[in-house]
Amino acid sequence: MKKLIVATGNPGKLKEMQEYLVGLDWQLELKPKDLEIEETGKTFRENAALKASSVAKAMGEWAIADDSGLAVDALNGAPGLYSARYGKTDEERINRLLRELEGKDNRTAQFVCAIAIARPDGALALQTEGICPGEILYSPQGSGGFGYDPIFYVPSQQQTFAQMSPGVKNKISHRGRAFEKLLPQLQSINLGR
Ligand code: IMP
Repeated sequence: MKKLIVATGNPGKLKEMQEYLVGLDWQLELKPKDLEIEETGKTFRENAALKASSVAKAMGEWAIADDSGLAVDALNGAPGLYSARYGKTDEERINRLLRELEGKDNRTAQFVCAIAIARPDGALALQTEGICPGEILYSPQGSGGFGYDPIFYVPSQQQTFAQMSPGVKNKISHRGRAFEKLLPQLQSINLGR
């Protein structure tokens, strides 16, 4: 079984990736905690590539990384790369976003997820990106999910991410779409089913 290092220190993310990559002949492992990669990229794509590449090279193993966030049109793409750092808690982040959107009629936004896989020498093997378009509500709805889920409404489902069952969210979300594009490409690097 091949080893694939997940370039994150977050066990929740490892579990999530295992669910998307189920059935593959790889063993997913967390990167060591003391191997820290600074996210200095200017785009989600650059950050995912940087994390996958640096971890792969440092460990001499295949590595996978993702980077994601919410881009709100009326805020010129904010919080974007700063989605995780927009406040200390999910509640603070949501309230800040709602405050910044006060008085703005254009509520369109999109979640973006970039994924990168790098070879043991650090060279990039694959990159994909998934986008989920939606709208920012005026107040939170629903109690599932995490992060900005309660204020992100998806018109095609007539629900926020926080109101969807995990199965539906995983299928239509930015992350679900990025993994959906990635799976058929895995064959090309001999890491497929
Ligand atoms: P990361 O790519 O896991 O670091 O995620 C960046 C940040 O974007 C998270 O901390 C959340 O604030 C936000 N985010 C990413 N994906 C989602 C999602 O599916 N729902 C809600 N918030 C998300």
